[in-house]
Amino acid sequence: KISFYNGEFKDDEELRVMYQDRAFYFGDGVYEVIRYYDGEFFTLEGHLDRLMNSMSEIEIEGMERTELLDIVTELKERNTIENGALYIQVSRGIQNRNHAYPVDVKPVVLACINEARRPHSQSENGVHVITSEDYRWLKCHVKSLNLLANVMEKERAVKAGAHETVMHRDGVVTEGSSTNVFIVRNGILKTHPADNLILNGITRQEVLRIAGELDVPVEEAGFSVEELMDAEEVIITSTTQEVTPVVKVDDTIIGNGQRGMVTKRIQEVFDANIHKLNLV
Ligand code: PLP
Repeated sequence: KISFYNGEFKDDEELRVMYQDRAFYFGDGVYEVIRYYDGEFFTLEGHLDRLMNSMSEIEIEGMERTELLDIVTELKERNTIENGALYIQVSRGIQNRNHAYPVDVKPVVLACINEARRPHSQSENGVHVITSEDYRWLKCHVKSLNLLANVMEKERAVKAGAHETVMHRDGVVTEGSSTNVFIVRNGILKTHPADNLILNGITRQEVLRIAGELDVPVEEAGFSVEELMDAEEVIITSTTQEVTPVVKVDDTIIGNGQRGMVTKRIQEVFDANIHKLNLV
């Protein structure tokens, strides 16, 4: 398998990373996970835009969008994986440990690919989630390498035999540890507004767009944990989880415990968009 680090494509057996990379010392960087299906990138532009935006938010300078596009394109071509999730991170650079931003260093890119399968079974049967307090920082719109809270909250779900942890701040549902969260209540599709308290998921944006196409009423507004429990349908979304129905929240069964109709209709269009990629 071929990966990319600090300007070079290398076989994983030979790839060496620098321990002075600020990604290790400080988590000082940002990242994206980009899906491709049968060799074709899905929503690539959205991911590159967000990566540029994340860099700008944490004041990483000196990395062009075209450079990133070239790296992800070449990395996909150099590997033989047909269906993959491409991980790309940009750190502030390599220098001896010092909190202050280094001067005269270039940002460092790490990129790799892992095989990924579509989550067909969970898309159909749904998953269980648990809830917990959102104690993360106030720049959750930045896709930062600092994922300690997300990792610990995901592990809490794993220990509870659940799939994901849905977080809430002051009683308002924000997002999952690595997913955005939607509910359907009184026929209205609701999700937290894209402010500093959530990551504006690319899949979230796709789902909102699809809902518009389907004439499903949409509200980007906060909703409470009580509303979540009482929803007709609950959905979590992400690049790798796609559009996944939630059938149980803590001990509460959602709807009739099966994927809802709004979820199914959105999934059908999402699916069709993936299939369209390879019809050219
Ligand atoms: N929220 C968080 C905290 C995430 O880490 C992710 C993705 O990993 C998402 C939401 C979903 O974003 P996307 O749909 O762009 O993958």
